[in-house]
Amino acid sequence: LSDRLGGVFDRLTKQGALSEDDVKTALREVRVALLEADVSLPVARDFIKAVQDKASGQSVTKSVTPGQQVVKIVHDELVHVLAGDGGDGKLKIDNPPAPILMVGLQGSGKTTTTAKLAKRMKEREGKKVLMASLDVNRPAAMEQLQILGVQIGVDTLPIVKGEDPVQIAKRAKTQASMGGYDVYMLDTAGRLSIDEELMQQVEAVRDVANPRETLLVVDGLTGQDAVHTAENFDERIGISGVVLTRMDGDGRGGAALSMRAVTGKPIRFVGLGEKMDAIEEFHAERVAGRILGMGDIVSLVEKAQETIEAEQAERMMKRFQKGRFNMNDMKMQLEQMLKMGGMEGMMGMMPGMKKMSKQVEEAGFDDSVLKRQIALIQSMTKKERANPQILQASRKKRIAAGAGLEVRELNQLIKMHRQMADMMKKMGKMGKGGALKQAMK
Ligand code: GDP
Ligand code: MG
Repeated sequence: LSDRLGGVFDRLTKQGALSEDDVKTALREVRVALLEADVSLPVARDFIKAVQDKASGQSVTKSVTPGQQVVKIVHDELVHVLAGDGGDGKLKIDNPPAPILMVGLQGSGKTTTTAKLAKRMKEREGKKVLMASLDVNRPAAMEQLQILGVQIGVDTLPIVKGEDPVQIAKRAKTQASMGGYDVYMLDTAGRLSIDEELMQQVEAVRDVANPRETLLVVDGLTGQDAVHTAENFDERIGISGVVLTRMDGDGRGGAALSMRAVTGKPIRFVGLGEKMDAIEEFHAERVAGRILGMGDIVSLVEKAQETIEAEQAERMMKRFQKGRFNMNDMKMQLEQMLKMGGMEGMMGMMPGMKKMSKQVEEAGFDDSVLKRQIALIQSMTKKERANPQILQASRKKRIAAGAGLEVRELNQLIKMHRQMADMMKKMGKMGKGGALKQAMK
């Protein structure tokens, strides 16, 4: 798929101007990418619409590299939706002991994530953490947490058979207060799918624990179902964030976008394996790239930029090496500038030109100036173009008149040509390839 999107992107970069059709074509591919990544249909639709609005709001036709612009808009919007006002990678654990409630379907990774987060808080923030398993349904579930606790050096609430989840939660609270814990984590039982009994159980626990954070753990490999799960848990329990597990797998993480869009709740962490360290803060950029099926969109954008710069540098290079830069070359340069989005686009594109941009700005240099300069060069004879030094005052007057302009403007052009020729000569002397690129940086 990245090939497909890349192909559209390539084509766009070659055109120099972006039409409505181009945007539509690109967005069709993006839409497919989203659906393939298991983003739910309505979410994908809304997303595309948002991108479309943003794209048409911008003066895309003036873009130097239109393909970049589309991909950038898509990428930025994806990051924007994914990140929202998301957390900073830290859990709210002030006012000890702070209760953290872990909820989610069975097998989503609640118990594993509980231990991972406990380890993280202990190691990174020096917190004293108590973990308690409230899973009275699954045999050996409590022992599972206990084993993990021993492994990571975090205390677990002693197992007392016969208690219900609410009783365990109360005991955890008491123990956490008395034991001077900063945090106590309540790892609840899950079900294969959402049912009323589960919801009531979790609600009851929430009411006694009054958690500072309620994290919904969702398997990143589940696609559309994730939205349903997230919606339900958020409505009934009220979640403060999502942890997306199994993002080490082949899943594309479209669930992240769907859940984010539907619940508006931030994705806080991402699980990346079974090991206790395999968890990290959620990075919208990474998941965005993954959803679009491109390891790293940004690098693609950069690569395209490099290609364009290289092609241009090469073209200019050939001219410099001839050691000549006459009015014909100048005309070509000016035309190129126009094609590439005018002065503004050009200055941004070419690092070497940046030095000149202030000067250009002061001179009130815009696209109409480019056009007038081209007209001036066109009214010169072949000989004059090849060798502008031969221009006499009388010829200047006639050339300016021929272009319907003033001599002052012709003089400006000649001055600019001379400056550029000087610059080119210097660059040409610097030799091939690398040195030129250096000079342009
Ligand atoms: P729970 O039923 O929600 O408590 O789920 P568990 O924590 O028991 O996890 C179920 C299985 O998923 C276990 O085998 C975990 O090792 C595994 N698991 C959890 N998180 C991840 C993850 O981020 N990546 C991978 N590859 N496996 C995970
Ligand atoms: Mg469990």
